[in-house]
Amino acid sequence: MIQHSRVVQWLVTGLVVTVTLFVVLFLGWLRVHHLSQGFLEQEAQRQRAALERIVTTAEETLTGATPWVGRTCGEVNSSLQATGSLSPYFRSIWLVSHGKMYCSSVIRSNDAIDMPLPAELVPLLTGTREMFVAGTPYVRNAPALALFVPTSATDGVLGFIDGVYLTESLHSVKTNDLAWTAMTIGRVSLTSEGPKLESVGVATRGAQVTLDSDHFSTSLAGSSALTRSLIAGQAPVFLAFGGIIALLLGILTFRHLGPAQSMRRKIALGIKRNEFKVYYQPVMELATGRCAGAEALMRWHHPDAGLVRPDAFIPLAESNGLIIELTRALLKQIRNDVARGALPQGFHIAINLAERHLRDTTIVHDIERLYGSLNATYPMIAEITERYVIRDTAAARNVMAELQRHGIETSLDDFGAENNSIGYLKRYDFNYLKIDKEFLPVTEADTVTRNICDSIIHLAERLDMTIVAEGVENEMQANYLRARNVTYAQGYLFARPIAFDDLVQFAIAHPLRGLTPVNPMPATVAPMPPRMAG
Ligand code: C2E
Ligand code: CA
Ligand code: CA
Repeated sequence: MIQHSRVVQWLVTGLVVTVTLFVVLFLGWLRVHHLSQGFLEQEAQRQRAALERIVTTAEETLTGATPWVGRTCGEVNSSLQATGSLSPYFRSIWLVSHGKMYCSSVIRSNDAIDMPLPAELVPLLTGTREMFVAGTPYVRNAPALALFVPTSATDGVLGFIDGVYLTESLHSVKTNDLAWTAMTIGRVSLTSEGPKLESVGVATRGAQVTLDSDHFSTSLAGSSALTRSLIAGQAPVFLAFGGIIALLLGILTFRHLGPAQSMRRKIALGIKRNEFKVYYQPVMELATGRCAGAEALMRWHHPDAGLVRPDAFIPLAESNGLIIELTRALLKQIRNDVARGALPQGFHIAINLAERHLRDTTIVHDIERLYGSLNATYPMIAEITERYVIRDTAAARNVMAELQRHGIETSLDDFGAENNSIGYLKRYDFNYLKIDKEFLPVTEADTVTRNICDSIIHLAERLDMTIVAEGVENEMQANYLRARNVTYAQGYLFARPIAFDDLVQFAIAHPLRGLTPVNPMPATVAPMPPRMAG
């Protein structure tokens, strides 16, 4: 009821593993993307440099021809032809004067040609230095790059770099790792796919890297082979890494949400929120029927599960170590209750210790710190059950000796319930022996249990231990114990574990001879419920 559902545990673990794998795969994808970008960036720089070399060399050639502008074609024609054929890349070089192409490297003529600049080239006279053209005056359907080096507003040298050179250059840098490469000027591009002009939007769709230069921009995209080879290189690392991380996180989550851990957190939270309450079960002096003390028993007022009995949380708190904190909370409550002074002087308060308490003297200091001076008026008894196996007997003996040195008596709880009884008696020095309810005769005719109980009583007397019989549920059992001079008894016959105010009422109704409350009972305390009457 107060435990975590297994379904939630598996669901959350599955979710954590899935999310972890997704995150690791995403990181892997980022890594592949990063490597791919780095590689493409390098390729784009290589490509830009190759194209820059062509354009710059061509521009230098054109600049070299600028002194001929304005001179007659006859004068410079042969020099222009020589330049056009000796310089790489050029399809033709033209001299332009007053907006007209008047001398060409490919036409042997002494007369001026006087061809007006085609409309598409007019922007060259208004500041544009380079542009792609679909064809040139004598080679109509083969794209070229027009380069213009002006000498005045209307004059200059115009050169056409053949598109084939550029396409070849674009193609030569393209390895298997690249899907395509492109060179763009304005809104027009030339790609590695062939000497054909395309609009920039179509040619460079999906570009992964674009680099600008003074004259043009260059773009490219990686091929699926590149992605595949990068994934093949990274996948083993990321899959192994992701698998290990997901597995570890999965295990951690599964354990964290496991019943034991979830219970641990609930107990820790319960301590913080003061959900643990102390109940007191009266211990009666059999000969007189008076209340001599009480055993403090823990209850958990759980917000969802209601009142939880100790068997459901004490063993867990013992195994995960929270019992130390839990006992501190118990001691604080006992101190607050008892310090009100409503109980008679000499009234004993018994607490239960766990095996962990016997490993070192922390409990002695805790009792000293939290209960300290109250021990003189309301002596504390530490009950140590023989149900658990004591790991470190030397440490346990030391803790018990320290408790007794601080005036805290010890009681061997649940005597006979397990196999450790005689060993405990031999090894440790107890003041009280609590006979487990299992050894109280159930009927008059129950001779076997009677004989065992008789032997236990006899043994305790021989060892000079005071006996407390627990689980006394009827008069027959009480009479049996009385007849054998057993000093104390505890059980439903007298009272169940009750809240402190009820304990005070009970103690007043069953006063120990000569013992009176230190402080009169506060008027607000409710009368004792009928079920608790002894
Ligand atoms: P225990 O120390 O043997 O406590 C006696 C148990 O017997 C109590 O159960 C009590 O309610 C029950 N009892 C008392 N009279 C009768 C009776 O006449 N008939 C029957 N059938 N039972 C009776 P409870 O309170 O449920 O405690 C169970 C166990 O939880 C305790 O056994 C004790 O070992 C442990 N425990 C309770 N509080 C604490 C604590 O603060 N610290 C530690 N370490 N253990 C605790
Ligand atoms: Ca006990
Ligand atoms: Ca007991």
